[in-house]
Amino acid sequence: MSVVAGAGPVSGNDDTAWFFEGTARGEFLLQRCPQGHWNRPQAARCAECDSTELVPEPASGRGRLISWAVVHPRPGTDSPPPPSVPAIVELDEGPWWWTILVGTDPAVLRAGMELALAFERPEGSETVPVWTVAGG
Ligand SMILES: [Zn+2]
Repeated sequence: MSVVAGAGPVSGNDDTAWFFEGTARGEFLLQRCPQGHWNRPQAARCAECDSTELVPEPASGRGRLISWAVVHPRPGTDSPPPPSVPAIVELDEGPWWWTILVGTDPAVLRAGMELALAFERPEGSETVPVWTVAGG
């Protein structure tokens, strides 16, 4: 199995503090409106019903692989860093999420695969959500 690179460092700000306070507790927070629609953390209003009364709520962390790429580092060093695998996950709650896949051999990836949430804390970074192949 090949090893892939994990997430890079991420810095929070006032707008994202609640999200990264969640990841630090091991929670992946999305925003939910009074009618129960799930929205991305950046949303100012519900994409379904236009409500602005969005409240952070922990999501399941489950989803399916929509698309991905294998990004190889620049060659030329004696010990090049491993490739990274940026990907799009369709969350069980509905929103799509850009992420990095970890702990995964890129050769086994198939569209529609079940993915599970994990967390990484790169040096000097907030805790960031990443995904891995479920059960793998
Ligand atoms: Zn809504």
